[in-house]
Amino acid sequence: MKKSSKWQDISGLIADSFRMSRANYVVLTFSAVVESARSIFQMMIPAMLIDKITGADAFGSVMNAVFFYALIVLLADASKKALSLFSTAFGYKAGNRAALSVGQKGMRIDYGGWEDTETYEGMLRAVRNTWVFQNITDLLCENWIASIITLVPVLYIFSYVDVFLLLPLSGLLILEVFLEKKTDKRVYGLEEGRAADEKKLHYDEKVMTDLKYGKEIRLYGAMEAVVKKYEESRQKVFCSLKQQKKAEILFRVSASAIACAEAVLIYLAAIREYGKGAVTISFFLLFVGAIRLFTESVKSIAENFEWVRELADYYGDYRKFMEKQEGFLAAGGKKDAVQVPFAIEFRNVSFRYPGTEEYVLKNINLAFPYGKKIAIVGENGAGKTTLVKLLLRLYDVTEGEILVGGINIKEIEYSAYLKLYAAVFQDFKLHSYSIRENIAFQESGKDELIWELLRRQGLDGAVKQTKKGLDTFLTKELDQEGKDFSGGEKQRLAMVRALYRNSPFFVLDEPTAAIDPLAELRYFESLKEETKDRTAVFITHRMASTKFADIIVVLDQGKVEETGDFDTLINSGGIFERLFNIQACYYM
Ligand code: ADP
Repeated sequence: MKKSSKWQDISGLIADSFRMSRANYVVLTFSAVVESARSIFQMMIPAMLIDKITGADAFGSVMNAVFFYALIVLLADASKKALSLFSTAFGYKAGNRAALSVGQKGMRIDYGGWEDTETYEGMLRAVRNTWVFQNITDLLCENWIASIITLVPVLYIFSYVDVFLLLPLSGLLILEVFLEKKTDKRVYGLEEGRAADEKKLHYDEKVMTDLKYGKEIRLYGAMEAVVKKYEESRQKVFCSLKQQKKAEILFRVSASAIACAEAVLIYLAAIREYGKGAVTISFFLLFVGAIRLFTESVKSIAENFEWVRELADYYGDYRKFMEKQEGFLAAGGKKDAVQVPFAIEFRNVSFRYPGTEEYVLKNINLAFPYGKKIAIVGENGAGKTTLVKLLLRLYDVTEGEILVGGINIKEIEYSAYLKLYAAVFQDFKLHSYSIRENIAFQESGKDELIWELLRRQGLDGAVKQTKKGLDTFLTKELDQEGKDFSGGEKQRLAMVRALYRNSPFFVLDEPTAAIDPLAELRYFESLKEETKDRTAVFITHRMASTKFADIIVVLDQGKVEETGDFDTLINSGGIFERLFNIQACYYM
């Protein structure tokens, strides 16, 4: 990731915000012009009225002027409000666009990247900070441009008087900006530190409220422990928020004291000029107004400048996430077609997880001919899931290569590559969407095919019993009329989803871990039938299930220790036979 200086972040922020909504810049610049015209006009009103009164204008004419001036100020305010309607809409759109690009970026980051908490927290921060795009536009246009335009007539008025009294005033302004900067820095630090605590709080909240945790929590009497954890997390976040509030209040009190001192100085300066007899009463009023506008504008520019730097910090989080390496989707090869049938070959493959030293797979050499059923077995931690993760390119190999149809999988375009596979994992996830969406991931699926697959998996009866058929939601989480399926039914639904994909290669990572041996038997019979002219690799911890396999691969401590069919391995005196006999004992 390239390093970026504060200035690069500032220019990046301005360029990105401009790219996200040019219309917002146009509207807000126009609004800034209206705002400064209003301020300057308002500054001139007392002097103009005094001139009229001392010039012995008729009472009616003075009153007309008052109404006329008030009308102009009102019109300026109304146009500003009208413009703010547009800028709010444009700003909202810009924020949306930024949040969407963070979401899309997240989807492009590979699985390995996602296992890294820094990536996850980076994404949370990036989404949370997308407000900066609206703020930078507001600041640059409404404060900066408006203040600069306002300063022109103000400085012109100053050219008529002795301006040395402005020095202490500038000192006070600098002090205020300095204090504000310190406070902002503290707030940013606290917010950053809070991100991890907030993540934990969200998790604790989920554990307390999510149905899926409820059963175990009650059974194990863990209610108190869970509530305690939640309370601790809330307390931590609360403490950090309290510290932030304290810093903010302290700053506000100091800022009020400084504002008081500023007011005293303004009047002293004005009285001094008037006392010298060099100016008229109307110029005195104009001067007081001009000094007020001067302090407001300079403060606004200085604060704005500081604030831009702060915004650049927030933007830095967004940029860092957007620059994260995307992995396979971006770096995938160009080849997009693999001809079916294809064989798969692991050639001298070794692998260690990113950021770790130890190899979890060592010099793997395997061949999966097309159309075969391959079982991968081995004790926990042997590397079975990792092998499958490499095949699905959730990670890239550290050494060696995986060939599909003779092509190194790194050379194949990633999304085309993934289309070759239908995978069911042990912790497969079904969603609180309709049954159709769970299977097709679309609102309109090929209903006939879905019904046919449901029938083949023995689920059509259960779905037909529901009022809404394929539109029935899974679980009651989002729909009272939703259907709760049993463990085995969910299993088969996940299988329907995989079959619907119609891929030539099935990958099943212990999908039967949660069902009983009889259901597992039926599952594998159905699997064999459904995938008869396709390849299927399945990981299982039940040795008996390997009877369905044409090839069994036994992994041990990251190495392939045995390969062969069931009849060969069961009498080989090796690991497979030992594991089989241990499990068989339990069934005898
Ligand atoms: P199996 O599926 O045979 O139980 P795994 O492939 O899940 O084994 O794990 C193999 C080894 O890799 C284990 O030692 C495990 O701790 C390690 N491992 C698994 N996932 C990660 C990961 N994301 N980061 C680091 N090490 C991991």
